[in-house]
Amino acid sequence: MRLSRFYLPILRENPKEAEIVSHRLMLRAGMVRQMSAGIYAWLPLGHMVLRKIEQIVREEQARAGAVELLMPTLQSADLWRESGRYDGYGKEMLRIQDRHERDMLYGPTNEEMITDIVRRDIKSYKDLPFTLYHIQWKFRDEIRPRFGVMRGREFLMKDAYSFDLTEDDARKSYQKQFVAYLRTFGRMGLKAIPMRADTGPIGGDLSHEFIILAETGESEVFCHKDLVDLPIPPEDTDFDGDLSPIMEERTSLYAATDEIHDAQRFEAEVPEDKRLSARGIEVGHIFYFGTKYSDPMNAVVQGPDGKEVQLQCGSYGVGVSRLLGAIIEASHDDNGIIWPEAVAPFKVGLINLKSGDADTDAACEDVYGKLTGAGVEVLYDDRDERAGGKFATMDLIGLPWQLVIGPRGLKSGVVELKNRATGEKEELSLDAALSKLI
Ligand code: ATP
Ligand code: MG
Ligand code: MG
Ligand code: MG
Repeated sequence: MRLSRFYLPILRENPKEAEIVSHRLMLRAGMVRQMSAGIYAWLPLGHMVLRKIEQIVREEQARAGAVELLMPTLQSADLWRESGRYDGYGKEMLRIQDRHERDMLYGPTNEEMITDIVRRDIKSYKDLPFTLYHIQWKFRDEIRPRFGVMRGREFLMKDAYSFDLTEDDARKSYQKQFVAYLRTFGRMGLKAIPMRADTGPIGGDLSHEFIILAETGESEVFCHKDLVDLPIPPEDTDFDGDLSPIMEERTSLYAATDEIHDAQRFEAEVPEDKRLSARGIEVGHIFYFGTKYSDPMNAVVQGPDGKEVQLQCGSYGVGVSRLLGAIIEASHDDNGIIWPEAVAPFKVGLINLKSGDADTDAACEDVYGKLTGAGVEVLYDDRDERAGGKFATMDLIGLPWQLVIGPRGLKSGVVELKNRATGEKEELSLDAALSKLI
């Protein structure tokens, strides 16, 4: 992509409305624009990162055996009356009437809808188990939308739903998502800690929030320090095998959010020097809820003995759009964003130090062609601008590598390669630079 033809409205000033660094940087880097309170337009740079995050979510869902579908954003109120949640959900639900005065709503989540789909099609225990997911916009009329995409009203969520015959099987489905989440967040360069969360009236131990530690986080969290740096489960993890050791390792030490935190237990179980109390961002939440929806909505299958059995279900959410904010909170410096390579909008920022100089232009074109030809994503700053401004822009938007080409270097056969994360700069031949990037 040539910057001269891209759409990158950089703000030089700090926007006043942004209270936290990720919000500030997303606005300054031209990634999002607020259209109404908590409702954002995703500009090209932000949109590219959103798609990268989605892709990682997809790959890890597939690895865990979940299957993608797509449900609509608008739902019929009748389904929610059936489950009993329509009245209880309160003002966070955006309620709409169509021209026939039918009550509709903009989905804040999809348990009812997926249960409705599944109950129509699935008749036998032989069709189980399966986990379906979609990545779709949600709307919650948050009382205080703030911190940019972190707490929007319209936001993108991955929500998966598992369907099993027995509680034991449902526990296995839960474990698959648990491990998928560790990999998903880990691949984005995040240290997500699963923490026990409130299970509501059903009880049990099967609800975890995945938390990124950050001072700006809205949750207060408490955990054992050793949970922070555990390695992520490997790519070849066998999701059909026994995942309980992985889950055991992550859940045997104390970790809880403020809603269910038990100070006495925390002090009894965790030695003082290992106690971590901090703030965190909830980027995911998984939940086993048994027959909470299949019961009132009569989602049943015929069991092996011919009797009707209610489906055992769980739901698993990832805050896809919130993740952009969380990643920036975790990875930035005074000059701007530092994207982990896995979610970077482009891998390389190519800086032409003297646009209009025939040799420099030619060298840049050559490199640009070679990199893009090799499948490397490059943002080429081909504009006729001062070098200082170009450097500042590249630092701000946080691409992992900056390749700087100018007339002086070219005379002695070198270019400069800068690593955005470490700040390290290296002078090397063009070929050497290319072989590092390809
Ligand atoms: P929160 O406690 O932050 O309000 P929640 O517990 O209400 O979140 P869930 O119902 O568990 O959210 O939804 C699953 C995921 O969706 C959350 O873990 C979070 O990452 C994301 N999410 C929820 N609300 C928002 C929002 N208003 N803006 C952006 N992402 C959100
Ligand atoms: Mg909420
Ligand atoms: Mg929450
Ligand atoms: Mg939650």
